[in-house]
Amino acid sequence: MNSPATAAEIRLEGISKSFGEVEVISPLDAILEAAEFTVVLGPSGCGKSTLLNMIAGLEAVDRGRIWIGGREVQNLEPKDRNCAMVFQNYALYPHMTVADNIGYALKIARVPKTERLRRIAGAAQFVSLEGLLDRRPGQLSGGQRQRVAIARAIIREPKVMLFDEPLSNLDAKLRQDMRMELADLHRRIGATTIFVTHDQVEAMTLANRIMVLNEGRIEQFDTPSVIYRHPATTFVAGFIGAPPMNLIKVTGSGGNLQISNGDKFAEGPVEGPVLAGIRPEQVVLDAGGMPVRALFHEDLGSHRVILAKLPDSQRIHIATTIGNPETFNGEMRVRFPFDRLQFFEPDTGKALGTSRASA
Ligand code: ADP
Ligand code: MG
Repeated sequence: MNSPATAAEIRLEGISKSFGEVEVISPLDAILEAAEFTVVLGPSGCGKSTLLNMIAGLEAVDRGRIWIGGREVQNLEPKDRNCAMVFQNYALYPHMTVADNIGYALKIARVPKTERLRRIAGAAQFVSLEGLLDRRPGQLSGGQRQRVAIARAIIREPKVMLFDEPLSNLDAKLRQDMRMELADLHRRIGATTIFVTHDQVEAMTLANRIMVLNEGRIEQFDTPSVIYRHPATTFVAGFIGAPPMNLIKVTGSGGNLQISNGDKFAEGPVEGPVLAGIRPEQVVLDAGGMPVRALFHEDLGSHRVILAKLPDSQRIHIATTIGNPETFNGEMRVRFPFDRLQFFEPDTGKALGTSRASA
């Protein structure tokens, strides 16, 4: 298998794609480092699969260049790009055994049988499929089928692994297990990996860096921690976290921030109308704070999420510990610590910088 030293850097230079009149990927630039695990995250239809397919060579670029390991590849056939791809629907051959599915690419490449069998056994062992090699896909569970698809991808020892929503068809528990297996697999293989998903939990847990995509444009490309703590736009703020960051309309003047009915929201040096972002878990219950009306709550075992209404009717989510006696009695009082707020420009949704420069 590859070691990180042999993994390839991927460089995207102004690549774009339209279907008819519709520009699905706007000229896009990015560098994915060798051996890095990048998650491309965005809502359905934002262009994730198109981007991945352009890198794999399944879809031609309209403009721009793609470099894999220093080689310009946008005009090469998929088989010459040293990428392996795993799809959501696994795309296994139902009439072939697991072994033949895993070894299919080697057979096409006329690799001699003894070597083929050796490598099939190695790939199967890599994803814990030993003992199932004689079965057919129909005799496997969803998770096992996904592992066959992964074994089939890694058997060619690709420098680049591409995953298109590979876990979406699995149930929640299995998805979590496979997530951990994939993270471990990436550590062992070391191939540069791009993983496409609309699931922010997958993105947060798997990625070295997350590329947040919105209508074919990169909103932010950074580590999970920076994306979570310092979203660059309201789109990112609203996409990450469950529930996501609250975005509250406030107006600042003379060191005070107010909501629209004039109630004090926080104190701090912000002027004019802005959106104040705060994570649900950073809203503080405080008897001296702003009165809010709790509308609904959900208990999630580890914590409670409350949907509440501010005095000017804006709605917010608050996350608190369960069993807190101040929690959820209809009327609550909360505080929004200024050093927890992130400010956004209301028209563009762009971050205005945080009150804590780089905390
Ligand atoms: P995602 O994977 O993020 O859900 P896709 O990359 O599949 O998004 O699609 C992005 C947009 O491009 C969608 O609006 C989709 O309908 C459109 N699209 C994708 N493939 C084609 C195609 N072959 N022909 C026309 N439109 C397409
Ligand atoms: Mg897709």
